[in-house]
Amino acid sequence: MSEDRLPGFATLAVHAGAQPDPTTGARITPIYQTSSFVFENVDHAASLFGLQAFGNIYTRITNPTTAVLEERVAALEGGTAALAVASGHAAQLLVFHTLLQPGDEFIASTKLYGGSINQFNHSFKSFGWNVVWADPDDIASFERAITPKTKAIFIESIANPGGIVVDIAAIAAVAKRAGVPLIVDNTLATPYLCKPFEHGADIVVHSLTKFLGGHGNSMGGVIVDGGRFNWTREARYPKLSQPLAEYNGIVLAETFGNFAFAIACRVLGLRDLGPAISPQNSFLILTGIETLPLRMQRHSDNARAVAEHLIDHPAVAWVSYAGLPGDRYHNLARRYVPKGAGAVLTFGLKGGYDAGVKVVSTVKLFSHLANIGDTRSLIIHPASTTHRQLSDSQKVLAGAGPDVVRLSIGIEDKEDIIADLDQALAAT
Ligand SMILES: *Cc1c(COP(=O)(O)O)cnc(C)c1O
Repeated sequence: MSEDRLPGFATLAVHAGAQPDPTTGARITPIYQTSSFVFENVDHAASLFGLQAFGNIYTRITNPTTAVLEERVAALEGGTAALAVASGHAAQLLVFHTLLQPGDEFIASTKLYGGSINQFNHSFKSFGWNVVWADPDDIASFERAITPKTKAIFIESIANPGGIVVDIAAIAAVAKRAGVPLIVDNTLATPYLCKPFEHGADIVVHSLTKFLGGHGNSMGGVIVDGGRFNWTREARYPKLSQPLAEYNGIVLAETFGNFAFAIACRVLGLRDLGPAISPQNSFLILTGIETLPLRMQRHSDNARAVAEHLIDHPAVAWVSYAGLPGDRYHNLARRYVPKGAGAVLTFGLKGGYDAGVKVVSTVKLFSHLANIGDTRSLIIHPASTTHRQLSDSQKVLAGAGPDVVRLSIGIEDKEDIIADLDQALAAT
């Protein structure tokens, strides 16, 4: 790469963070399958433990395979540093552990992955971290939710399910006025379709399990530091702005500047809570990321073709996909995800609950399971699976009414995907 041009996205997806292994010449990043690393001498060990030198101690905190993954995702998102962990939920746990004290509040979008809604409503409450919900279709609801205890705002770029696109810049403006960071879960869009830092986000999180890994074969999560937030304001974020006795009194925001947040999540959160990613999974996810731009374009193009087909189908009542020109979120999609609106969409069956059960039982190419972001096309009928414990009215509020089917469109031939849906719809 010549020095006078910055590499493009596809080049970064293949190369960022990686170089041939210095000891063996291995071209592909090796799986450093080791729990611990030998110190050069006692002084070296002391400087590693005191955060005066960068280096590996123990795979719970850093690992060379995982380090390549972290650098690659940071480069793709345009962040200053990243921390990879065991799952998307672990990433969210460490972000909030770093930002919140017991009794603090954060504002979260009502349009979120169901697992995040559970995590925030139940487990986070038991830590004394209190979620306040706001509706991304009503930006003023975020403004109204701000209190002196608010420490962060959390949204998804493309929200799961239903392919809802959120006005990131408008919510970033609310966060900026309140002096709190905006966290964006960019799992459904990936940095290929949307880069939240360009729209004012301060922290990006992902479930690497989904499109970044992309092959349905490994769990992972990542936190990306945007590097622009001022953590020292009014001592609101003590883990970043107060001296740490356990590290000789250093102040992370002063010592680590524009990547202090990623460091704090690692040397406090990951160190103490422990959800480390395995080097094997980092390797698989790194391999997946090499083809991210090719896969995401294909996922989006296929999903749009499926949405256009379904909207004219006699068994289908409605289709929710921001990539469709008539969709309520299409203008936001054109602004935030101009290359395509991603792989996930929902549609409603005229035949209601029974038709939903019939469709998921009759598909052959689609897999009936609870995941998204695989190369394979996936289908689920939320009312009979993920949302079955809710009352009928709760189901409708969650976008999981009896008629709703969710698809995660794969990278197979679109003609085969559509033919499979057609034969299943014919059975309703
Ligand atoms: C799956 C998912 C998560 C949680 O990630 P895990 O890797 O399953 O822990 C978070 N957010 C979104 C949008 C997801 O789809």
